[in-house]
Amino acid sequence: MSKFLSEKLSALKEYTPGEQPQDKKYIKLNTNESPFPPSQGVIDGVNGKKVADLRLYSDPECKLLKEQLATVYSTTPDRVFLSNGSDEVLNFAFMAYGSNGVAFADITYGFYSVFCDLYGLKADVVRLNEDFSLNVDGFCGKNKLVVIANPNAPTGMDIPLSDVEKILQSNSKNVVVIDEAYVDFGGTSAVELTKKYKNLLCVQTFSKSRSMAGARLGFAIADKEIIADLEKIKYSTNPYNVNSLTQVAGLCALKENDYYMQNAKRIIQNREWTNDQLLSLGFEVLPSKANFIFAKTDKISGKDLYIKLKEKGVLVRHFDKPRISEFNRITVGSLEQMQVFIEKVKEILGELK
Ligand SMILES: *Cc1c(COP(=O)(O)O)cnc(C)c1O
Repeated sequence: MSKFLSEKLSALKEYTPGEQPQDKKYIKLNTNESPFPPSQGVIDGVNGKKVADLRLYSDPECKLLKEQLATVYSTTPDRVFLSNGSDEVLNFAFMAYGSNGVAFADITYGFYSVFCDLYGLKADVVRLNEDFSLNVDGFCGKNKLVVIANPNAPTGMDIPLSDVEKILQSNSKNVVVIDEAYVDFGGTSAVELTKKYKNLLCVQTFSKSRSMAGARLGFAIADKEIIADLEKIKYSTNPYNVNSLTQVAGLCALKENDYYMQNAKRIIQNREWTNDQLLSLGFEVLPSKANFIFAKTDKISGKDLYIKLKEKGVLVRHFDKPRISEFNRITVGSLEQMQVFIEKVKEILGELK
């Protein structure tokens, strides 16, 4: 760190992304990417002509993408916002609505606390229940920005829409962000509720269920006033936040939406298979509605399992944090990948004295 950085930013503890090793080939189950490639339309769509068009700025309005998303999600383009990954729209939401403080769970997506620190916002950390379910009452009547990942990460557990509505109704004077990064893997989306609740901001991403983590494309659906706020921030920071290749890729992906929803179903099947295997090996597994599994065993520590799996070429995610340090988060990949993962777990357990 240089001596030039402000005191406030020097103290900031930045977000730590999962490893993206470039050295050797791992079975990569650590960052919740899809094992499936983008659809053929995306591969064809990002062609030579589109690359040549890189000399032009991208469409700052993301018009075609907004229209297509509006069609897929049965809403109108003025209720849609596009961002450079969903991290960016989350960033904007904290910037826009966090001044009274921000309520989020003690165990959830790590970026929420980073945004709080970055903007000097007061974090109101609501402890998950002992079984890692969300403390719904703890999020009611907050009078500040509320941010909930549903399904939650890294637990994979979700709350029903009735609970989302309860939280929305008791927070009618403040914005409630529902981060739906994993909703396509069996959760229930609150997007429909954006027509009923003006304070609801639903955030989704192309990174997980749509096999496009590297393209950086996220979106939000909300009442048009919230969308206008987000646009204002976007035009005050980076009007061309979504590059032109990504806009094409996103548009092509939406036109082949069935392919991605089929893939999500395959992931769900692979998740249930892996879940059963881990249970039969004596693991405790949280009930997941996401493309990952959060599991622990008293036979080996979370950290040791992570290290031994890595030695055997399987990368999972371990969080050295209170309450969850015995767990590992395992991304659900293809069935072949999950079979190797289970094989390696069996080997490791067998090698214990
Ligand atoms: C992965 C993830 C995101 C961010 O994904 P982007 O790649 O920035 O779209 C947001 N929220 C949660 C809970 C996530 O797990």
